[in-house]
Amino acid sequence: MKKFFSTLMLSALCGVSFAQQATSPDGHLKVSVTCNEGKAAYTVMLDDDVVIESSPLGLNTSIGDFTKGLKLANPAPEAKQVSEAYSLPNAKIANISYTANEYTYSFTMEQAARRFGQRPQGQGQQAQTRDVPVFDVVMHIDNNNIAFKYVVKPQGDRKSCLVNNELTAYTFPESTTTFICPQMTPQTGFARTAPSYETFYEYDAPMGKNGHGRGFTFPALFKVKGQAPAAPVKKGKKAVAPAESLIWVMLNETNIGGNYCGSRIVNNANVYTIAYPEETEFGGVGSSGPGIMLDNAELASTPWRTITVGRTMKPIAETTIQWDVVKPQYAAKYDYKAGRSAWSWIIRMDASCNYDEQKEYVDFASAMGWEYLLVDALWDTNIGYERMEQLSKYAQSKGVNLFLWYNSNGYWNDAPQGPRGKMHRMIDRRKEMQWMQKAGIKGIKVDFVGSDKQQTMQMYEDILADANECGIMVIFHGCTLQRGWERMYPNFVACEAVRASENLAFGQNDNDIEALAGTIHPVLRNAVGNMDFGGSTLNKHYSKNNERGTTRKTSDCYALATAILFQTPVQNFAMAPNNLTDAPAWAVDFMKKVPVAWQDMKYIDGYPGKYVVIARKANGKWYLAAINAQNETLNLTLNLDGMFQAGQALTLYSDDALLQGSKTAVTPNKKTNTITVSIPKDGGVVVCE
Ligand code: CA
Repeated sequence: MKKFFSTLMLSALCGVSFAQQATSPDGHLKVSVTCNEGKAAYTVMLDDDVVIESSPLGLNTSIGDFTKGLKLANPAPEAKQVSEAYSLPNAKIANISYTANEYTYSFTMEQAARRFGQRPQGQGQQAQTRDVPVFDVVMHIDNNNIAFKYVVKPQGDRKSCLVNNELTAYTFPESTTTFICPQMTPQTGFARTAPSYETFYEYDAPMGKNGHGRGFTFPALFKVKGQAPAAPVKKGKKAVAPAESLIWVMLNETNIGGNYCGSRIVNNANVYTIAYPEETEFGGVGSSGPGIMLDNAELASTPWRTITVGRTMKPIAETTIQWDVVKPQYAAKYDYKAGRSAWSWIIRMDASCNYDEQKEYVDFASAMGWEYLLVDALWDTNIGYERMEQLSKYAQSKGVNLFLWYNSNGYWNDAPQGPRGKMHRMIDRRKEMQWMQKAGIKGIKVDFVGSDKQQTMQMYEDILADANECGIMVIFHGCTLQRGWERMYPNFVACEAVRASENLAFGQNDNDIEALAGTIHPVLRNAVGNMDFGGSTLNKHYSKNNERGTTRKTSDCYALATAILFQTPVQNFAMAPNNLTDAPAWAVDFMKKVPVAWQDMKYIDGYPGKYVVIARKANGKWYLAAINAQNETLNLTLNLDGMFQAGQALTLYSDDALLQGSKTAVTPNKKTNTITVSIPKDGGVVVCE
């Protein structure tokens, strides 16, 4: 008691506030927010394991430096329960219910009273000061996720500010390993179009590398070594050392449109700090830090910084936190329909963008029973607007609707492909979209928008908002990562923001490691939002004659499995008309029926960079899919509870040791409701009804 008392006294003297833990509803996930010597910090724990060590909070703005001299006005705020159920038909889970504890921490700074209109102090008087609110940290904690944001307070008559930088960082315990993509150098790559989230992951890489010198992109995955809770010591027995237990941690951010910029994380030793876009992004146009209004808490908010934590990858793959804390920015004006899409460019490239070949692809999409065809770059000159109207009419007569490619430019890079100059200014964009609506065009794919600046985010949002007025769905390519957009903008389809299938056409190396990357996307990039990957080819080679070009190393069952594993409501599949005759009939038949509008998902097993097993549900039926990137054949016994019944007649698509696929009947074990599958390297498995 005495010791406790003296510690309390000492703390009071030093102005140290006690860390009062904020917790998830189930009590396992815990956050301490502290303010020591004027500096704000937080710590994250899962049970007894420190997941994120004490890490700084605070921001530096044009109306004050709120990184030091801070006081925490309420060290132990009451938890407020928040819960919401909502539907999200264009994302990986259609019906979501969210329950969290909300805590609001209020930070103040001591400021001279006279700044606030009081009379000047007389000589000999003590300087008058008072504590002025500078920001709140609003924190949500659910059983698997922490989301927190700053709400900046107006200062005097200042009702807006520029945020220069944030102190927010994530400090990981030593021996943590990482799965993250380096940030690209602005104004590099094809026609100065970077950055666009297209670098390679490193798997289980040590901390302390700052990517290519400019940090890493979201979402970022970390593997922390923890300890399972210690077993109780039995009388007369020695204590058993607690078993090592992995903890997976994913960092991301959400609720970013025109209100803020996107961020990256820069790394020094074991600390990863939020960094705003580089000045040179977007052709050097627009500031690095964002501007915000301070009129109300919503406007004065930074994005939510999210931390997803689990002892398996399940909470990460299944997370919905990126949507739980955002709100729709407008209502859907039209009924937006998910669908499968053909796409000639990935196999036949620019040369295929002519009327005859696009007509051939309309017929192919129709033969597949698919809903859409994406007409890629150069259609404006090679087909023209008038004949595009004819193509659209023809497509509709075959039950197919068109998506059209657009260059986002613009003045921020040199990408030459047309149509150019139609998307970046409202007057031209609205004219173009009105033409689309008249021509029955249902969507656009807007390319080469690399940059995370607020100015760029505003353009993404403006394109989406204008498109909604004309019933147009939007895919972004060569672009940023969406941050909550599936819920914020109902006509949003997907962003690329991944090293996608185009690289399989461009170079052999991406083919050699295709399965490696395939094992991480479903649980990381695709966990935080729809992914425009453009995969599932059944060609052996990326070329029109299917003989030249880069060589696919993965099996046909791998292609089927990734149609399930990779999720977006409008899938641009990389199949080609020749696949109707040169690919196995069972594979083509599967691709004719594969759903893209999913109700639900389950993470089952995996390890990023090694293998992954996920199930998705559509129309009440489950599809289980797995792929393997390891040299050794993977043998798995899969429990099918909650998806299939013991003894149920199921279909299995699987590979033999030489990656020759087949479709067979399979019945789960009548007692255990399990099946055993083997997946060779670069192979895949699908189980469905
Ligand atoms: Ca790209």
